[in-house]
Amino acid sequence: MPERPRRRHAAPGRNTDDSPAANAPVEQIETAAEAHTRCGFIALIGAPNVGKSTLINALVGSKVAIVSHKVQTTRTLLRGIVTEGNAQLIFIDTPGIFAPRRRLDRAMVSGAWTGANDADAVAVLIDAARGIDQETAAILADVAKLDRRRILVVNKVDLVEKPTLLALVKDAIDRASFVATFMVSALTGDGVADLKRWLAAEAPAGPWHYPEDQIMDAPLRQLAAEITREKLYLRLHQELPYQSTVETTGWKELKDGSVRIEQTIFVERASQRKIVLGRNGQTIRTIGAQARREIAEIIEQEVHLFLFVKVREAWGDDPERYREIGLEYPTE
Ligand code: GDP
Ligand code: MG
Repeated sequence: MPERPRRRHAAPGRNTDDSPAANAPVEQIETAAEAHTRCGFIALIGAPNVGKSTLINALVGSKVAIVSHKVQTTRTLLRGIVTEGNAQLIFIDTPGIFAPRRRLDRAMVSGAWTGANDADAVAVLIDAARGIDQETAAILADVAKLDRRRILVVNKVDLVEKPTLLALVKDAIDRASFVATFMVSALTGDGVADLKRWLAAEAPAGPWHYPEDQIMDAPLRQLAAEITREKLYLRLHQELPYQSTVETTGWKELKDGSVRIEQTIFVERASQRKIVLGRNGQTIRTIGAQARREIAEIIEQEVHLFLFVKVREAWGDDPERYREIGLEYPTE
């Protein structure tokens, strides 16, 4: 496992310097925190492309999870952390749940349900435009069995008429019980504030898990790899299978305050390597430039990004790869 890069934020669980309780005795801090604060873990469950990542971004108010128009590219549990009044809400963006075919798919599915089991509440996200298709029906049947508080979030309401929406909600709540239902558009932000307020009011009482200014819980190396992977897919979505991965293999802070990052893009075949490089390396240069800009923006440092492309055959069966992307390797 590569070491974690230096963080710009305080360690989890500690008060920030400007918090009023920063200079108070320890016991006093804890009593104050428990008396006044709430903290909830919320798992977002939904089929690929229903808008889980977009919703987390809308809730957090800055880019945390990676949004991509390629199905099945969300692989790791990325969290968005929201503070709303005295409540801290920690959102778990689960990889999409779908009929498992290959071993990799199975790992992604079990990752999603692990997220659900760690949560105080499960938010089931459905796509209003897509309706309750077979996949959504299967998810509703599965969440109905989970021993957690469930809420229903119907997303993409900007795409459908009211009667369609109401019929959809009725159908959904016939399949699983929910303590509350919300209709939102993660894209326009419609209904997102209501959802946030409700979750904050319902979060269990308890101390906050993260300092107030900390909005992401993905190690920066991993986040940087996700960003490059997103650029890769946006550029090559038709030509590249989703099995390709990106790893951050080097992260060096330089004296001038900039950071040198090395990443390797792993593909399965030599032909795919050619596609990623492009004629005269044009494609990888474009991808690299886009990724570099976005990583720099997020870590607030100048970035020198070096990309390598390697062919690794059948990586889908290598347990080490699963650990690096934060998934348990299925043993059965
Ligand atoms: P995920 O796979 O569930 O994480 O889905 P994403 O967040 O990556 O979103 C999939 C696609 O749906 C993207 O193209 C989003 O821009 C789009 N999308 C998400 N939320 C909305 C919404 O409320 N309205 C519309 N029209 N599109 C949305
Ligand atoms: Mg996603």
